[in-house]
Amino acid sequence: MSITVTADKVKTDQEQKLRQLLLHLSKYSPFYRELFEKHQIDINAIKTVKDLAKIPTTGKEDLQKCNDDFLCVSRDKIIEYASTSGTLGSPVTIALTENDLNRLTYNEYNSFVCADGKPEDIYQLMLTLDRQFMAGIAYYAGLRKLGAGIIRLGPGVPSMQIETIQRLNPTAIVAVPSFILKLIQFAKDYNIDLNKTSVKKAICIGENIRNTDFSLNILGKKITEAWDIQLYSTYASTEMQTAFTECHEGHGGHLQPELVIAELLDEDNNQVSANTPGELTITTLGVEGMPLLRYKTGDICMYYDEPCACGRASLRLSPIIGRKKQMIKFKGTTLYPPAMFDLLNEMEEVRDYVVEVYSNEIGMDEVLLHLLPLDDSKACDNRIRAYLQARLRVSPHVTYITAEQLQKIQFPESVRKAVKFIDKRV
Ligand SMILES: [Zn+2]
Repeated sequence: MSITVTADKVKTDQEQKLRQLLLHLSKYSPFYRELFEKHQIDINAIKTVKDLAKIPTTGKEDLQKCNDDFLCVSRDKIIEYASTSGTLGSPVTIALTENDLNRLTYNEYNSFVCADGKPEDIYQLMLTLDRQFMAGIAYYAGLRKLGAGIIRLGPGVPSMQIETIQRLNPTAIVAVPSFILKLIQFAKDYNIDLNKTSVKKAICIGENIRNTDFSLNILGKKITEAWDIQLYSTYASTEMQTAFTECHEGHGGHLQPELVIAELLDEDNNQVSANTPGELTITTLGVEGMPLLRYKTGDICMYYDEPCACGRASLRLSPIIGRKKQMIKFKGTTLYPPAMFDLLNEMEEVRDYVVEVYSNEIGMDEVLLHLLPLDDSKACDNRIRAYLQARLRVSPHVTYITAEQLQKIQFPESVRKAVKFIDKRV
């Protein structure tokens, strides 16, 4: 069953773009030409989204191993070299042409409009525009197209963020939710009332603010309880060059059907049904430099296909439940790091943390939590252990560390955002 069935017009447009993509790949992509040949794929037989099932999927390992073979244009056509963050294995280069950058702009413009962005808004960008971070330039370009004001402040430094909010009066911020919590803490420490500032909304990147039933998770709740702003979650990846962004309903990120085809697949690459976790698998539409066909993102989520109350009929994605590779099988339970993060975010006694998973001597997953406790008391330790035991039913290993030690683990050389999860499994 196809999950992208919306209006007929959308479907026809999408199928036309799919055929253009297949033609483009068969002409210019060394990787996909070889794949079509090896599997005897007749691209003329692929006419609908449903027909895509005849084509094998592509994985992150393919991109890592044969990165250059995905390039469909000559080097002189490339304008921007973006790269994935490399949190799972070696980073991948995604090269964009002028047309791709225009497509990226259009994509992010749509995203901001979906999240109630208006030309009169002023956005403070609390993220990097450097380090080959594609999303940074996407936000910037999308906001230019929207005609909104932009304050490029970069990540971190709560004091500077708040001083700038007070001085330039932005109406919106784009930030990692856990950093918004740091802003709130800073404001509290210095008796600044954030509710008296000009900020009315936040575009939340990189972390979930909701549970899969769309209710706010602990992080989302902690933010909105202290700061009365509207939160919009957006999810994207460098490889797909496209964002799924929430409207004001906050009921999942909306698909942009003219830019990407989304399939959610099970272990055997079969389409899962609505409200069932599957691996997000995307096919880019309109990408020239490095288009991807049935690319498995490694992200597990669910989809919803009933029309949204905002009037958009496009398919929506749930918050990301986890990365497929990061799934932890811990003493008989299966869990993903985001669930652990939620749990740790909830604990007053834990100021910050890093979750580590490693293989024990018999090859089973073990979890070690590096925690920065509220204080060094025995009572605090007892409360943390009791809480973990109650919530996880199994006890992970716990080690307490100082703020400096934590800083060292969270920000090794050349990372763009704080490391919260370390995978040392063999
Ligand atoms: Zn909506």
